Amino acid sequence: MKKIKEILAQTEFSKADLVCLLQAEREERQLLFEAAQARKVATVGKKVFFRGLVEFSNICAKDCLYCGIRKSNEKVLRYEATDDEILEACRFAWENRFGSVVLQSGELSSPAFVKRVDRLLQAIKKMSNKELGITLSCGEQTKETFQRWFESGAHRYLLRIESSTPDLYHKIHPQNELHAYEKRLDCLKLLKECGYQVGTGVMIGLPFQTDEDLAEDLLFLKNLDVDMVGMGPYIEHEDTPLYAYRSQLKTKQERFDLALKMVASLRLLMPDINIAAATALQAIDPVGREKALKIGANVIMPNLTPCDFRKEYQLYEDKPCLDEDAALCRNCLEARIELAGSEIGYGEWGDSKHFYRRQEVTK
Ligand code: SAM
Ligand code: SF4
Repeated sequence: MKKIKEILAQTEFSKADLVCLLQAEREERQLLFEAAQARKVATVGKKVFFRGLVEFSNICAKDCLYCGIRKSNEKVLRYEATDDEILEACRFAWENRFGSVVLQSGELSSPAFVKRVDRLLQAIKKMSNKELGITLSCGEQTKETFQRWFESGAHRYLLRIESSTPDLYHKIHPQNELHAYEKRLDCLKLLKECGYQVGTGVMIGLPFQTDEDLAEDLLFLKNLDVDMVGMGPYIEHEDTPLYAYRSQLKTKQERFDLALKMVASLRLLMPDINIAAATALQAIDPVGREKALKIGANVIMPNLTPCDFRKEYQLYEDKPCLDEDAALCRNCLEARIELAGSEIGYGEWGDSKHFYRRQEVTK
């Protein structure tokens, strides 16, 4: 087996190399983190970009086996924030110079939903003199819908592949057309065709998942040539079918550690993309996101969802910041990011450098 030092000196990585990085312990783990940190500073710099997260509705037509707000979970009180509530959260982001917002929701494709998102995009652009950048994370849609939302002002889209291994994907989703792997993959390609900066990602530490699967995930992200990645630990939720497999899980601390190694390895594999420090990291370690920023991530998503709705957007147990208001959240983050040796890119969209490079190549 190759030594970590040898692997870290490379610029191309095989699946075996990546497995080796994911299994690094003690001094080798430290070397991986140091190399990723140096690569991050050299390519995307020390700036961290804020994306104010607005979870505007938990109504979902899908039944992903891991997700707390899946359609069949009858314990969840379903909500839809009003246009005013959403605009107010976006105004907070704009006035506090967050640069961008992420509008996230359960997956719906009704004409009314498509129209509503469209209207919101236009209203946010108008309210902010076109200054706020907007990322959408509203699940799988048709090309027409993606195109329409792009034209109304969304310029980034997050759609996690969840697991790039079709076998594992099938194990964590119901077996029907609504949850088809091929459709999700197709959507990622459509998003690129429409001109979005495209983000995807995976959950780490899923039941049945191996280190080889995770190495495949990293290579998948590279082959798809994505601009942004958000990936974090899988955390169980007791009202979901996957909870039955909790005895097979790694400990939360092990999943957390593996997630950090995934972030560091990805920074080496794709040096100029944007990588988000996932909120789920914070559910395991109070300074989990800051740890990820230190070793490779450069984007963070402070939660701006109106407090009353947060407890109904529980994707997994111990989801953080349930009752912290946005202003408090900002102050506490600012201090912690500075502690992690980074600075905040206030008022900047903080677009993916990789996206612009990709555009240059295809011109
Ligand atoms: N409905 C949209 C979708 O699925 O793309 C966007 C919202 S969905 C709640 C956002 C992400 O939450 C999913 O892509 C999934 O990776 C993550 N998620 C859901 N349940 C989770 C869990 N139990 N642990 C960690 N992440 C989870
Ligand atoms: Fe719905 Fe997204 Fe949760 Fe799946 S992950 S059930 S699509 S909100």
